[in-house]
Amino acid sequence: GSRQVADKLQQALDEAGLNQTVPITMTGCHGFCEQGPIVVIAPDDVFYCRVQPEDAVTLVEQHLVQGQLVESLLYRDSQTGERAKSAHDIGFYAKQQRIVLRNCGTIDPEQIDDYLAREGYQGLARALTMTPEAVIEEVKRSGLRGRGGAGFPTGLKWSFAAGAPGEKKYLVCNGDEGDPGAFMDRSLLEGDPHSVIEGMVIAAYAIGAQAGYAYIRAEYPLAIQRMQIAIDQARARGYLGESVMGTDFAFDLQIKAGAGAFVCGEETALLASIEGERGMPRVRPPYPAIKGLWGYPTNINNVETFGSVPYILRAGADAYAAVGTEKSKGTKVFALTGKVKNTGLVEVPMGLSLREIVFGIGEGIQQDRPFKAVQIGGPSGGCLPAALLDVPVDYDSLIAAGAMMGSGGLVVLDDTTCMVDLARFFLSFTQRESCGKCTPCREGTKRMLEILERITQGEGSMDDIIALERLAGVIKSTSLCGLGQTAPNPVLTTLRYFREEYEAHILEER
Ligand code: SF4
Repeated sequence: GSRQVADKLQQALDEAGLNQTVPITMTGCHGFCEQGPIVVIAPDDVFYCRVQPEDAVTLVEQHLVQGQLVESLLYRDSQTGERAKSAHDIGFYAKQQRIVLRNCGTIDPEQIDDYLAREGYQGLARALTMTPEAVIEEVKRSGLRGRGGAGFPTGLKWSFAAGAPGEKKYLVCNGDEGDPGAFMDRSLLEGDPHSVIEGMVIAAYAIGAQAGYAYIRAEYPLAIQRMQIAIDQARARGYLGESVMGTDFAFDLQIKAGAGAFVCGEETALLASIEGERGMPRVRPPYPAIKGLWGYPTNINNVETFGSVPYILRAGADAYAAVGTEKSKGTKVFALTGKVKNTGLVEVPMGLSLREIVFGIGEGIQQDRPFKAVQIGGPSGGCLPAALLDVPVDYDSLIAAGAMMGSGGLVVLDDTTCMVDLARFFLSFTQRESCGKCTPCREGTKRMLEILERITQGEGSMDDIIALERLAGVIKSTSLCGLGQTAPNPVLTTLRYFREEYEAHILEER
């Protein structure tokens, strides 16, 4: 509804004769989805939420003309009932640390000057004064790990492509985010596309790539549109092209729209898709760093990973490494959804507990119902129960708990959720998205889904639980790619933490 609000605001400004003095800036996602549409009045720093088109005249008359706050549109704390004037006074924002999302909701993503005014392309400027090896070293020292899910150290990954022999090298940005409940990459591409481009140019310089692709799923038309505008502007200003920032380093970038297959988030399937082939994973090795796009060394990182790089080069590895835990540095963006009061896009330092995210930033469960679990990491992740609310959210702690960071979906569940149904939902998603190339994933997920359906329809037996666990083990250890290797995770974690619900389905129906 933001566009309608903006149109009505423009109309009200015109009628009040303020159209020359009060410009409207359209930004990307502000993060607080639950309270949208959001209007921030600057420089007063007043945050209005749930603004409707019919509020436009009041905002202009009361705030801009009379200089009085419109109390009814200020954020109201659900616990204390108090109104907050600015975003800094709202717990949802105050408890976050925004490095990647720092420009989202603040700048006009279609204006490169807005990005430049907020230290844009300064990380690239510093990188170009360094040797490529020193840039890789800086990223290694920062401790940045891939935000797409696996958490592989980014600097180390870059060093593989940098060291691989090849007359050409490619760089690819993986924007094929497709997990149910995830919208981190989409929001960053829509809200601050230049940060992703800057991160890509720095990476290209570090590994010696001359050409790059931003692979973005076609279901994200606004992300594609804004990314294209940003690429054109960056090229016109010399941040892309034959001579990047006046140096002899050349790098250019184009968008490849993906057709929306979840498996194309897997690196080798994504490369096949760019090459015009059917998006199916290939056997590794050879790894893309050695033999990637059209056989040339290729480095692939996720949108958020590239979005983290400009800060590391601008502020330095130490500043970045000062945030987070010993083995998981920096921040992570999460799409906080489900039965939580404050749904939205949040960025927190690694190591913050689930409790602080769900009950601090999220302010707890809708209608104050009991918290049951959180599904973290989408279909490849797992479900963590209330007993694990104090688990720190970092790569290693989540794996120890049987889940994984994934790309950053965080779905909060209350006591009305049936965990067997939830596992069935995620498995039906991965089963549908299985590309069918290898037997364990193609056949195994189908058999698991049949069993889950049998159980939820009251026709299961205790042997079915044993069969689920056996199948899950085989699929995890023998599937070709990450989709199959992680597909059983939601079933395994719900069996680990909510086994009694499976047993209840079986026993109660007898
Ligand atoms: Fe395809 Fe699944 Fe095998 Fe991956 S694990 S290659 S998605 S069949």
